[in-house]
Amino acid sequence: MLPLAEAWARYEAIRDRLPAAGAPGRTRQVAGLLDVADEFDGFLFDSFGVLNVGETAIPGAAECLTALRRMGKRIRILTNAASYTGDAALAKYRRMNLDVARDEIVSSRDVTLAHLGSVAQGLRWGAIAAEDDCFADAVGHAMVDLLDPGVSWDAVEGFVFLSSARWTVPLQDRLAEALMRRPRPAVIGNPDLVAPREGGLTVEPGFWAHDLQDRTGIVPRFFGKPYPEAFEIALSDMGPGRYAMIGDTLHTDILGGQAAGLATILVTDHGLFAGQDTAPFIAASGIVPDIALPSI
Ligand SMILES: [Mg+2]
Repeated sequence: MLPLAEAWARYEAIRDRLPAAGAPGRTRQVAGLLDVADEFDGFLFDSFGVLNVGETAIPGAAECLTALRRMGKRIRILTNAASYTGDAALAKYRRMNLDVARDEIVSSRDVTLAHLGSVAQGLRWGAIAAEDDCFADAVGHAMVDLLDPGVSWDAVEGFVFLSSARWTVPLQDRLAEALMRRPRPAVIGNPDLVAPREGGLTVEPGFWAHDLQDRTGIVPRFFGKPYPEAFEIALSDMGPGRYAMIGDTLHTDILGGQAAGLATILVTDHGLFAGQDTAPFIAASGIVPDIALPSI
């Protein structure tokens, strides 16, 4: 677990590795998403802190999605979740009674696997993944579980970081040493530094990745918000229109939305800033959402 102040300082310390923020304007405060729904043709939703916290839907989220569909709004879920497949994400939304279709979900895992061939062709990838991940969706790629005791770290030709669930400081030290000994591509499937969960902020692949970059000089390829590929995939089949990115974090959702040329909406009562006044964070970072609301 990481305190918010530390996570925030780290996000600001790596700002030059993130897309540039949009020109700072003023944030308009509204009560809920339906208050501004008329202004947009559709929405790109972050998941954690907007639709759900952990395995629980945020009160009102299901009703909001239903109302937006009645209004004919286009919907995408743009989530930096790489630990499980898109099909597993769909099952999770179903369990929470959130009306979402598979082709509306764009997870950073999907984005990473879709772009892996552009990083390098034909490599044997060692994946840092959740337990029992079988990589069935890594179609066309040779991928093994790096934490499988039978896998030699010297025999893999690139590293893909999908989940920090089993990652530890000693493993990080070992990976840094392996990369120093023989540099290889590192691909990060979740750029988040932390994730808000029921017990506090957990350390996520992005956090470990920036530490690796500091220690080895190897610049990882990040896929997912705030980087452009996730937005390109999400927007590719939505058609022209006025779209807004809605999320709970400034350095991923809002920054990425601005870089993609979207309107941005910050959710303040759940997720990263739950229980905090967001104004000082917005002022300190210069990442200014167009709209803020407590909860959808
Ligand atoms: Mg979130």
